Amino acid sequence: MRNFLFTSLFVAMAIILVSGCNSSPGSGNNAAGDRETLFQVSTINALMAGVYDGTVSGGQLKTHGDFGIGTFTTLDGEMLELDGVIYQIKSDGVAYTAIDSQTVPFAAVTFFDSDRQEKIASGLDLVGLQAALDKSLTSFNLFYAFKIDGQFSYMKTRSVPAQSKPYPVLTEVTKKQAVFEFSNIRGTIVGFRCPQFVNGVNVPGYHLHFLTSDHRAGGHVLDLKTTDVTARVDDTPNFLMSLPDISSDFYKIDLSGDQQNNIQKAEK
Ligand SMILES: [Zn+2]
Repeated sequence: MRNFLFTSLFVAMAIILVSGCNSSPGSGNNAAGDRETLFQVSTINALMAGVYDGTVSGGQLKTHGDFGIGTFTTLDGEMLELDGVIYQIKSDGVAYTAIDSQTVPFAAVTFFDSDRQEKIASGLDLVGLQAALDKSLTSFNLFYAFKIDGQFSYMKTRSVPAQSKPYPVLTEVTKKQAVFEFSNIRGTIVGFRCPQFVNGVNVPGYHLHFLTSDHRAGGHVLDLKTTDVTARVDDTPNFLMSLPDISSDFYKIDLSGDQQNNIQKAEK
């Protein structure tokens, strides 16, 4: 009887896993939800306001996704997760492999399962790439994860240095950001397109980070030029947000204002 029960459970789990391949919008209520969920730590407006103490470890993040972007505690560099490995691109431009105990004050991750792929025209800059990606989407009211691989004739990225308390707001830090330029570089862009209705919670529109194919450099994407690039998209209908512990500065700041103009400044 016991064995039968275990076998039944196992078969049931296998069926759930198989049904997990379906990821069309609206499938969020099935058991595949975990793989189709954008998991987010804190909010972009809290990060804008200088809440840089990490609250979730890299090890915890990996249980919510193998793919994503964010930053590290004290704002020590750009975070990028690809194929379950978390990289820390510091302000020296080097991509370090992060250890699981490192914490993040802001991040968004998911399990990346490609739903569609599209060859991207050559010669597009960042604005052109985003317009091309927009054309491939049926709605702007869904979360999308993008994995964009290939050869870029140009890539411009940035990273930010670790901060000490009292933390300055993000627009003050990004005034002194380190900028890196690459030519004829292979690599992968990892990022998301969020709906406008996340304003205040995450970055509406595109937020993209880059890692070179040798995994040694990268950063937050400021501009680029495509050469031979393929974009894969993962429709992500579920959203889960984890707010910091009650002791966090998160609960001492005013989050009622609209930071959209400052986000535009900080992301460029
Ligand atoms: Zn970024």
